[in-house]
Amino acid sequence: MNRRGFLKAGVKAGAAAALLSGPVSAFAMRGAKVVVIGGGYGGATAAKYMRLLSGHTLDVTLVEPQKEFISCPLSNLVLGGSRTLADISRPYATLEKHHGVRLVHEMATAIDTTARTVRLSGGSQLRYDKLVLSPGIDMALDSIEGLADANAAGQIVQAWKAGAETLMLRRQLEAMPDGGVYAITIPEAPFRCPPGPYERACQVAWYFRQFKPRSKVLVLDANQDVVSKPALFKKVWDEQYKGIIEYRNQHKAVAVSPKDGLIRFDVQGDVKADVINALPAMRAGKIALQTGLANMANNRWCGVNYQSFESAVAKDVFVIGDAIQVAQLMPKSGHMANNHAKVAAAAIVAQLNGLDVNPAPMLTNTCYSYVDDRHVVHVASVHEYVAAERTFKVVQGSGGLSAGPTELEGRHANTWARSIWADMLE
Ligand SMILES: Cc1cc2nc3c(=O)[nH]c(=O)nc-3n(C[C@H](O)[C@H](O)[C@H](O)COP(=O)(O)OP(=O)(O)OC[C@H]3O[C@@H](n4cnc5c(N)ncnc54)[C@H](O)[C@@H]3O)c2cc1C
Repeated sequence: MNRRGFLKAGVKAGAAAALLSGPVSAFAMRGAKVVVIGGGYGGATAAKYMRLLSGHTLDVTLVEPQKEFISCPLSNLVLGGSRTLADISRPYATLEKHHGVRLVHEMATAIDTTARTVRLSGGSQLRYDKLVLSPGIDMALDSIEGLADANAAGQIVQAWKAGAETLMLRRQLEAMPDGGVYAITIPEAPFRCPPGPYERACQVAWYFRQFKPRSKVLVLDANQDVVSKPALFKKVWDEQYKGIIEYRNQHKAVAVSPKDGLIRFDVQGDVKADVINALPAMRAGKIALQTGLANMANNRWCGVNYQSFESAVAKDVFVIGDAIQVAQLMPKSGHMANNHAKVAAAAIVAQLNGLDVNPAPMLTNTCYSYVDDRHVVHVASVHEYVAAERTFKVVQGSGGLSAGPTELEGRHANTWARSIWADMLE
């Protein structure tokens, strides 16, 4: 490590150590093993911060099938055409090189919470003392008739995990004739990234306005109203995308037929579209469900003790990120997952050292949305753990909302992305 890198690591380690109530002991850590499943916003951050908080003594293995990290935040801009997938991808190798996190590029296929083992797709097994799960979400494709088959055939994709589907959807938009219709259906909240579908509508409309000006964007929302930043999005649609974006609330998609380009709803009449981007209901990633950790909301989300993010049903298993049952007004966002990870990492290192777990963790959130290639709006909040109610609550008067889209916020959004990727991976 060069001098600058060393100083940077020292500053980070100092800041990270402030999350603990006392000094850690290399002796206490000796032999302790932590396995992290999922190297997204939650898992990669947890792996790195456990290494930092333990003075690089804790044995941390990150299980993640992808060779490089691809960000969902900013992936809507790939659909709009102002970014490439390469712009929003980062290598995992830095976690190993800078922080000594052991990387295993396989899927975790089974967890035995009694034997404390994780089985991997290659057939081998990892033993753990503490396990962190950040598997993100899975799509309940079966909640919309015809969607699973349409997805398998590549006719209707979600692109709600950035990567191959993002490129497929972009190609569908490019192939659509001018005068065509793109329709996005939005499930009932909660779902991954509350502002995400509305940002996507802006990005597709921005592309259409330049290259296919007679085309339309239909936003078909199962909810009563736009779930995040409603006034801001509606103002942008009215001012920048009038005649292109049309919003319809209370449209819960129940069936799709890609052959006829049809979407069927529970109450409202059918809608025809050239490109269908049907987002079904979402639930915690499969590995969490199959381990029995999703004990909330009809077994969709994982209940946790919010002070530490330890599972409500399995000891020494910590669940973070989108897979958890959220507290009030806590969005399923990358920024939140990154914050959950730090609380869980500190709790794990404290427990392994016999220290008190932080009694009053705090979380912050910021969600930026690009309304074109440069102009951005944001919403922000601060959440405090209220011990008496064992939940997180928004700190009164904290956070805020943009007055309207600006280029300055566009620069902040870009810096936010680069900073959080560095915080997770470098
Ligand atoms: C279009 C879009 C825009 C968004 N914009 C923003 C934004 O601007 N700001 C923001 O804060 N958030 C945004 N989000 C939300 C953000 O992407 C998620 O909240 C965040 O990724 C959640 O982190 P996570 O760790 O729970 O899941 P992920 O980041 O999805 O990570 C899960 C990881 O687990 C791995 N995995 C799953 N199962 C297994 C297994 N069995 N074994 C091993 N690995 C496994 C996956 O490969 C994946 O890498 C956006 C989301 C979308 C879709």
